[in-house]
Amino acid sequence: MTAAEPMNKVTFDIARVRADFPILAEKVRGKRLAFLDSAASAQKPKQVIEAIVHTYTHEYANVHRGVHYLSERATVAYNAVRAKVQKLINARDENEIVFTSGTTDSINLVAQTFGRATLKAGDEVLVTEMEHHSNIVPWQMLRDEKGITLTVVPFRDDGSLDMDAFRAKLSEKTRLVAVTQVSNALGTINPVQDICRLAHAAGARVLVDGAQGIPHLHTDVQAMGADFYAFSGHKLYGPTGTGALWARAELLDAMPPWKGGGDMIRSVTFAHTDFAEPPHKFEAGTPNIAGVIGMGAGIDWFLSLDRDGLDAHEAELLAYGTERLAEVPGLKMIGTAAEKCAVMSFVLDCAHPHDIGTILDAEGVAVRTGHHCAQPVMEHFDIAATVRPSLGAYSCREDIDQLVVALGKVREMFG
Ligand code: PMP
Repeated sequence: MTAAEPMNKVTFDIARVRADFPILAEKVRGKRLAFLDSAASAQKPKQVIEAIVHTYTHEYANVHRGVHYLSERATVAYNAVRAKVQKLINARDENEIVFTSGTTDSINLVAQTFGRATLKAGDEVLVTEMEHHSNIVPWQMLRDEKGITLTVVPFRDDGSLDMDAFRAKLSEKTRLVAVTQVSNALGTINPVQDICRLAHAAGARVLVDGAQGIPHLHTDVQAMGADFYAFSGHKLYGPTGTGALWARAELLDAMPPWKGGGDMIRSVTFAHTDFAEPPHKFEAGTPNIAGVIGMGAGIDWFLSLDRDGLDAHEAELLAYGTERLAEVPGLKMIGTAAEKCAVMSFVLDCAHPHDIGTILDAEGVAVRTGHHCAQPVMEHFDIAATVRPSLGAYSCREDIDQLVVALGKVREMFG
């Protein structure tokens, strides 16, 4: 049986998907590459690489400002990406999409505009115990500046969010709930639709961190009911330094700008500046032109996949990986929620995660080890770090098998 023919009726053509990723053919330390670090950053299909090369080779100039041919070509290609993001997340209008450098930038934008303008001392921002640091620190900075309260909703020991605690902590003081769609450290899928409904009933806005959700879940911001949605292009098969913030049009209209500069204005005198309409009001300076075009190519590539097939493939692979890892003596999974995807964090009784990562690397297996920018998750389990294999659309059974064999070597070395 090959990875293209798993036991259930998955029709997803994994061999064809893998053929789109030149890097997967690389030998690493003389071994077949088992790339299991897509949660940190996904590899890039040739369609994305070619879009970037094409831009710099044939269509590159600064956008918006030029009347010349190349500037017009670059502007058309760049602007077309807004509609691609709109389609990806089913936003109502493409002008609800602000290009950013990634999830971190998107969340900071919300903190520094919506947060700074509307939150006052005594207001509460509710976050969860499983947030990435990028959905904690911007709110802490605002807390220290404005005297707001940061309230934390715990998760249960299996990694599922404690929704009873969420309901209990939600109050008329809650102005914003900032929650991840999927935990990068645990793989937990949070019930964001329910969270939005409950938060709205309490009069709070909701920011959903989609960094780990967008590559795996069918995301419809209107059905979800969120107010803000942030994601990174590089986790969705696009280039680094790209991403987006989606926000409801009425919120973007009301939010003050954050970064000042070129392209975000209608007119400037020394006495006064008239700002441009959203999204341009939030996009000061020369943008990451080829990067955004590459992100668009990544979205096109992703949306061209058989999504039902991909869902089945990823679910089957997560189940297979979980089952195979359970065979490794002394291995404990961190994050076993019923609703989870793509992430298989674990610790091993005989070795430190960093040592495990180094030995796996020698066997061609790329995994992330550490706290995954989610130190409160580590604190919950009283551990310093985990080993975190994670899946992308191109991951296959051979990758898991290679991981399990390499873990056998770890056991041999550390007993
Ligand atoms: N949130 C989550 C859940 C993440 O996994 C990450 C990236 N590890 C981020 C936010 C930050 O994304 P970026 O570094 O692309 O801004």
